[in-house]
Amino acid sequence: MRALVKSRREPGIWLEDVGRPAIGPNDLLVRVHYTSICGTDLHIWSWDAWAQRTIPVPLVIGHEFMGTIVEVGSEVSGYAIGQRVAVEGHVTCGHCRNCRAGRRHLCRNTVGIGVQRAGAFADFIAVPAGNAYVLPAGMPDEIGAILDPLGNAVHSALSFELAAEDVLVTGAGPIGVMAAAVCRFVGARYVVVTDRNHYRLSLARRLGATLAVDYTTTTLDAVMKELGMLEGFDIGLEMSGSPDALRSMLAFMNNGGRVALLGISNQEIPIDWDQVIFRGLTLKGIYGREMFETWYRMGTMLQSGLDIAAVITHRFPAHEFAQAFEVVRSGQCGKVVLDWTA
Ligand code: NAD
Ligand code: ZN
Repeated sequence: MRALVKSRREPGIWLEDVGRPAIGPNDLLVRVHYTSICGTDLHIWSWDAWAQRTIPVPLVIGHEFMGTIVEVGSEVSGYAIGQRVAVEGHVTCGHCRNCRAGRRHLCRNTVGIGVQRAGAFADFIAVPAGNAYVLPAGMPDEIGAILDPLGNAVHSALSFELAAEDVLVTGAGPIGVMAAAVCRFVGARYVVVTDRNHYRLSLARRLGATLAVDYTTTTLDAVMKELGMLEGFDIGLEMSGSPDALRSMLAFMNNGGRVALLGISNQEIPIDWDQVIFRGLTLKGIYGREMFETWYRMGTMLQSGLDIAAVITHRFPAHEFAQAFEVVRSGQCGKVVLDWTA
């Protein structure tokens, strides 16, 4: 089968012909139809320090995908050949305390699909059946392929009560713009998104941001004046990984504000803890998606009118993966989808 493989300890990813994976008794074999590219895949391509210490070579990469079940392991129940599925990319241990309490997203022994075990940028992938999420009828295939990053947005946004609140989202990457859509959908009053990338700021407006502003030319002070906000933001969603974004977010939260931290920085971030302590802020780290509550909640929101389709801005056949990665690298895009159906 075709697969995008990290087969050398150097920058690059290579389209190779590899053996079809075998499934164990608790697995499903999935014929992959659509995949989407994540920032993680760029790190693996460029072979930065994180990739060098994390990725076992050779490895089929990729973790954002949907496909159909073509084989069901002998011990699996509840799944059938032909069902369309997306797959939670964190394979959890099942025996740590959090797993046993049903908090699988907090598993201490998580293994990542396409990061530590064979990934989805391939014609077929074997996955533990318990990681599969059957797509609701009517959900377009390519939306199924981006449920992983949408789940990051939903997990972050639904961490706090949002109705009638004012929300600041820093970073208009695909996850930030989808988070803005989710916040509007669940009834936030104002949703302000910041970035310096104008392509992405207009995407944020299209998905429902009240204001999407270039942080290099517009201050949050000016934003608050324009909106008539007197005190500060109630909810912050940090989705850039930028130290400056986090610091300005903390400064513009109202007392008692709640902040979800999704963005990943490659450096330690000094912050003014007085902002947190004396003003009673709550900071919550977000990793992945809640298994599987986030999946059900995003499925039902999509069925009841949440529309994030516009975040998919580019589509390529799988063999044009190099162009697709180039678009992602340029930042002039939302989600970029690869088509494996041909
Ligand atoms: P992305 O890198 O595509 O987007 C980040 C955006 O932030 C970019 O558009 C960039 O221009 C913008 N930005 C940079 N500095 C900024 C600043 N000072 N203020 C405002 N915006 C700024 O990322 P994405 O795919 O949308 O993911 C968002 C973040 O979440 C990334 O940091 C990513 O690594 C992280 N992430 C975390 C998890 C998790 O489980 N915690 C999962 C997926 C992604
Ligand atoms: Zn565990």
